[in-house]
Amino acid sequence: MKIIRDPQETQQLGLLWNSQGLKVGLVPTMGYLHDGHLSLIDEAKKRCDRVFVSIFVNPTQFGPTEDLDRYPRDFARDEALCEEHGVDAVFYPTPESMYAPDFSTWVNEDSLSQTLCGASRPVHFRGVTTVVTKLFNITQCRLAVFGKKDAQQALIICRMVRDLNLPVEIVMAPLVREADGLALSSRNKFLSADEHQRALALSRAVREVERLYGAGERSAEKLLAAARAILEPSGGRIDYVEMMARDNLRPLATLDRPALFALAVFFGQTRLIDNCFLG
Ligand code: AMP
Repeated sequence: MKIIRDPQETQQLGLLWNSQGLKVGLVPTMGYLHDGHLSLIDEAKKRCDRVFVSIFVNPTQFGPTEDLDRYPRDFARDEALCEEHGVDAVFYPTPESMYAPDFSTWVNEDSLSQTLCGASRPVHFRGVTTVVTKLFNITQCRLAVFGKKDAQQALIICRMVRDLNLPVEIVMAPLVREADGLALSSRNKFLSADEHQRALALSRAVREVERLYGAGERSAEKLLAAARAILEPSGGRIDYVEMMARDNLRPLATLDRPALFALAVFFGQTRLIDNCFLG
């Protein structure tokens, strides 16, 4: 397995593989890999001849008061996991090699980025769409896998690829959970044992909304009330709990078309998200 830090060298490898007729896949990550990331890698391996994993804690998607500096990192462990899962090359750039001091070109999705995480994290998705475009260009991938854990992100990437005619197929992989239901996240390591227990309210709220929807409930107000009734006693600080239309990520009153139920809750400093698609 190759480990490449230089963007140009990575691009040369991507171009070489493409010229050899090999299908190149990419799994973009911020590292501190867990089973959710590994399921994306396995999916890319199934669909591609060569797989890049990028490991980059992208500074431009963090706001000034967010957790960029304390975001967990363990490259040695990530490297071993990538090797075990048959990754062909890890792209592990420095922030300096990705962003020139006078960097000034951004990719901005203007609609789906406005609500949910975009409302509470104003620069976040601009950072994501910009870095993902760079990663597509650097790796020359023709397929990339994103997790449904970050449902809004995956939908924004699909929109960007469509709108900008990027030659990359996007695969959305299922959300992977711990045995107790908590959605796997690199940030879970910040939770105390007590916070972890209380954070199970997120997945319980998701399950309850799925159950009620399955039983025929179509009122967003009722589904959201049921979710809040589970979340509020957990003592977490709710950032948002929303029912959105899947196609435009705007609030939906009646679930008469595909929807995204999504929530974000703080436990201490740690912000956790969860979601499910309905219909
Ligand atoms: P991150 O390292 O958190 O930026 O995540 C990199 C990729 O892994 C994104 O496409 C995420 O959606 C995906 N991912 C993170 N956690 C999970 C999970 N629990 N299940 C599935 N995919 C995940």
